[in-house]
Amino acid sequence: MDPEREATRAPKHRRNGTALRVLRGVLMAGIAAVVAILVSGYLQGDPRITALFPGVSVPGAPQKGPGDTEPVHPLDAPPPGLEEADTPLASPPAPGTTNDSYKFLATNDDGTPVGYSPCRPLHYVVNNATAPAGSDALLTTALANISAASGIQFINDGTTDELPVDKREPYQPAKYGDRWAPLLISWTTPEAAPALAENVIGTGGSTMYSLNKGPKSYITGSLELDTPQVMELLASPGGADYVLAVMQHELGHVVGLDHVDDPIQLMYPEIGAPDGLAAGDLNGLHLLASAPCRKDI
Ligand SMILES: [Zn+2]
Repeated sequence: MDPEREATRAPKHRRNGTALRVLRGVLMAGIAAVVAILVSGYLQGDPRITALFPGVSVPGAPQKGPGDTEPVHPLDAPPPGLEEADTPLASPPAPGTTNDSYKFLATNDDGTPVGYSPCRPLHYVVNNATAPAGSDALLTTALANISAASGIQFINDGTTDELPVDKREPYQPAKYGDRWAPLLISWTTPEAAPALAENVIGTGGSTMYSLNKGPKSYITGSLELDTPQVMELLASPGGADYVLAVMQHELGHVVGLDHVDDPIQLMYPEIGAPDGLAAGDLNGLHLLASAPCRKDI
């Protein structure tokens, strides 16, 4: 074992992410209404996005014998490398158009984007207690589109009663077993999730993890959708397309994309038309597909 090994983690439960809101008054103006989706900005530039804790030693971690190369299993983390394959699970084709209108929520010291390991699936659970009718199909489509572009293989672990919280524990063995907690997708309300206050319709982000101040990778995340606002959108002509755009925008944050200044991109903080992922979004997601595999976490 490596006696120097330490577990380093983000300020616990910190999330990268941003929030979306829809200008409801604009939406209700008519059939051809332009729905502006704006970022609240409340996490934009938030130091929680980039600040990592210094190493925290794990004195109680299981000890290994000399020559045993098994990584130490920190007490607040699952065994490393679960479901981790030797190579990425998918190889998404390069986008047909090169476009640099993308940004990442976090990068490593060498400038590479922080992403999820492409060599393991990303499990997710849905708190669908208040999910609007028909939203399942939209979520499935949103996940499929992000998967196709990023290579991330999402696995549906079903429903959960876990409620969204501001500081989610990324490792919950009593609830989800000895693994990183799955991505939590919650249908919720501003009362239960205060970040959805006012016109914010969705929030999303992920938690970074690293060892010995090494490269960071996301290990789990969460995504919250404002049920009342989404129901209002779905009741409007063409509203489903906007809901799909919101889901994809938030999933973009979950897998590592930040906002850009290019209004053509889905990751632009205002969406005039729900045209889906554009060239910059696709190029950014394709780069995230090249994030390092992580047998060590
Ligand atoms: Zn956003």
